[in-house]
Amino acid sequence: MKLTQVTFVIVGASLAGAKAAESLRGNGFDGRIVLIGDEPDPPYERPPLSKGYLQGKQDRETIFVHPPQWYAEQDIDLLLDTTVTAIDRHQRTATLSSGERIGYDRLLLTTGASPRRLRVPGADLDGVLYLRRVGECEAIHRTFETSSHMIFVGAGWIGLEVAAAARDAGVKVTVLEADAFPLQHVLGPEIAPVFADLHREHGVDLRLGVQVTEIIGAGGKAAGVLLADSTRIDADAVVVGIGATPNTQLATDSGLQIDNGVVVDASLRSSDPHIYAAGDVANTYHRMLERHIRVEHWANALHQPGTAARSMMGERAIYDRIPYFFTDQYDLGMEYAGYAEPSGYDDVVVRGDLSLREFIAFWLADGRVLAGMNVNIWDVNETIQNMIRSGDRIDRAQLADPDLPLDQLTSK
Ligand SMILES: Cc1cc2nc3c(=O)[nH]c(=O)nc-3n(C[C@H](O)[C@H](O)[C@H](O)COP(=O)(O)OP(=O)(O)OC[C@H]3O[C@@H](n4cnc5c(N)ncnc54)[C@H](O)[C@@H]3O)c2cc1C
Repeated sequence: MKLTQVTFVIVGASLAGAKAAESLRGNGFDGRIVLIGDEPDPPYERPPLSKGYLQGKQDRETIFVHPPQWYAEQDIDLLLDTTVTAIDRHQRTATLSSGERIGYDRLLLTTGASPRRLRVPGADLDGVLYLRRVGECEAIHRTFETSSHMIFVGAGWIGLEVAAAARDAGVKVTVLEADAFPLQHVLGPEIAPVFADLHREHGVDLRLGVQVTEIIGAGGKAAGVLLADSTRIDADAVVVGIGATPNTQLATDSGLQIDNGVVVDASLRSSDPHIYAAGDVANTYHRMLERHIRVEHWANALHQPGTAARSMMGERAIYDRIPYFFTDQYDLGMEYAGYAEPSGYDDVVVRGDLSLREFIAFWLADGRVLAGMNVNIWDVNETIQNMIRSGDRIDRAQLADPDLPLDQLTSK
């Protein structure tokens, strides 16, 4: 393939899409790049939407992946407010919402994910808010100024971060979660209570094991919720954060292999050798884990596109980074690396003090570290990743002993 004469189309103009365009140019691709996104704004990062930008501590300009002029400078055709409505894999064309068809030699899907919708009566009332896009963040920020009480349905990462921002803004907050603890499916019953305590200590009314059955309206606007046990809670707004689902419609319609996202190999190539996927939408084969995983993490959307770009250019490239995630809530900052499914570990070791919220937690199987989370302790995450990568069996007493430097416990 003579790369000067080819067209690479990227569908989805957010972090992964912008990074793919950047990597293609960075790796010397001088063909045509068309980056297409259905949002009105140029590619931006989402973590600030539940943290600094939501809190009004970060300016709007800082959320963008690149300054607006960067795309033209790099000779990238950035089409905003444009949806790709169909892919014809035989003709190798992408159809746009304008009706235009663009031919491609390689196509990258970076269509991301969308918030899962709450399906109860009243869920479509005004004042029922979701958070994925910058406009939704701005709507929630405005709600902080007009509300005295907000309800959060779902105690996942985004719900908890926004709840923390609401508390910082002086709003009374109720968080409703169906599980026994917030974040239970990620952190398990051993560590998840840390986040329950954190929010309760900051004045959140956290109700666990509850089910929302209805959003109550008044004058066409959300005015509270009804729980399965008939409890009624009144509020000025309801924020729903019950997870996200990958945006696979386009890929499904074009007949690509789908299974919890677009199925791709370790080079990020889909079941069609001309189509690749990266970021939240990609269910990627991970060599170390020996299975496919789909990761909705910023770091994944940042790094996978580099691999996708090189694969699209015909190089041999493999994505094998360890999943990495971070959160900030009140005065708690944490990083999590690895992958430990609820049923996949047999031991949890804590180094430090859970009650002081200054610790490292390790999830192990058969003495090997699968995942580690450092809370308010810094500069250790790389060592945790080395431990995971090494596959070494590590003595649990040594792992728990804060006096033993972590890097002495691993061969990597
Ligand atoms: C509020 C919030 C806070 C977060 N905080 C953290 C955090 O603290 N730490 C962390 O690790 N991760 C965090 N994340 C997750 C992280 O932001 C995502 O993993 C990342 O945004 C994924 O990037 P992406 O480019 O793959 O997909 P997305 O960001 O979802 O972008 C996909 C883009 O494609 C567009 N699109 C979809 N279909 C089409 C189509 N057919 N045509 C054109 N365009 C299309 C979408 O509208 C969207 O603009 C957060 C996410 C949110 C929403």
